[in-house]
Amino acid sequence: MNKKLCFFTAFMIIFCALVLQLVNSNVVQPAAVCGAFADSRRVYLTFDDGPSDRVTPKILDTLESEGVAATFFIVGRSAERRENIVRRAFAEGHSIGVHSYSHEYSSIYSSPRALLDDIQKCNELIYDITGKLSHIYRFPGGSFNIDRQLVSAVTSAGYRYIDWNASCRDAEIWSPSPEQLLNAVKATSADKNTIVLLCHDSTDKTATALALKDIICYYRHSGYEFCTF
Ligand SMILES: [Zn+2]
Repeated sequence: MNKKLCFFTAFMIIFCALVLQLVNSNVVQPAAVCGAFADSRRVYLTFDDGPSDRVTPKILDTLESEGVAATFFIVGRSAERRENIVRRAFAEGHSIGVHSYSHEYSSIYSSPRALLDDIQKCNELIYDITGKLSHIYRFPGGSFNIDRQLVSAVTSAGYRYIDWNASCRDAEIWSPSPEQLLNAVKATSADKNTIVLLCHDSTDKTATALALKDIICYYRHSGYEFCTF
């Protein structure tokens, strides 16, 4: 009788372990490591100007259901009233980078000191929320037309700045439809093996949240691996 009980208990333990494994294998997890294959095509989804109450949670929901990780370049002034959203993004495996504290071009770009103060203020907030300082930075407007003195101030302070080479154009098209954004993604991504896609998650970018699933599908079906900085 004892032997039978033992056998039954062992059977149940193995059965439960198998069921658990099956359940876990269906949970979509963001890829923690990227670039498993040297010749893989890679896309980095990046979101600027958030967090916002209206758009960022929807973007996080889609990324979660698709099992994709992205990079959020946040605005400190918005984040300090929405720490829970940044905390969620970080906990779900997304990268958090510095965009700006104030995002006011006239003040942040007035001198290297002003720029570094703005970056530091944003990064201190990131540290308070996530327990980690960020080492990645995105210039508001990109580094393309920025004074070289400002660029070298940022790199000397230990930051890697990230521009983009594709865009969903959600900051350029007035009141876009999700379809227009997807078309902009396709047009600007063509023939590129490594893509850094610019998107925004500020409060008026509802079309971006609506287009995201199709954008992810497009890259997935084109053979891209999703990466974060
Ligand atoms: Zn911006």
